[in-house]
Amino acid sequence: MNKSRRLDDPFYLFLRRHYCMNCSARLCLTQVMQIVNSTSPDIKKFWPTDAVGLGSLTGDIEFIWDIFYCPSCDEAFPIHEVRNQEREQKRLMKQSRRKHSILRKVGTENE
Ligand SMILES: [Zn+2]
Repeated sequence: MNKSRRLDDPFYLFLRRHYCMNCSARLCLTQVMQIVNSTSPDIKKFWPTDAVGLGSLTGDIEFIWDIFYCPSCDEAFPIHEVRNQEREQKRLMKQSRRKHSILRKVGTENE
């Protein structure tokens, strides 16, 4: 059987802390294994379309990948979801910081 191990950026996974979207608890990493046939539509569900090397595999494929797991909610989150969430948070933080600095500028002009 074909085996495919998806490896995400280890710096992202291990050197940074990641927190649960629901309860803000620290997330753990856990490994998931799933056998999916290459013709199954499920393959997209388990394997993001940007995955490397998927095109060359056919038949039953054993996928192994990491996901984040929250021990307090007992819920798993795909890495790309957590990453998107973190990006969105960063964007919002930058936006509000910019707003504050504009307000500060307006304030000094009035003085
Ligand atoms: Zn949680």
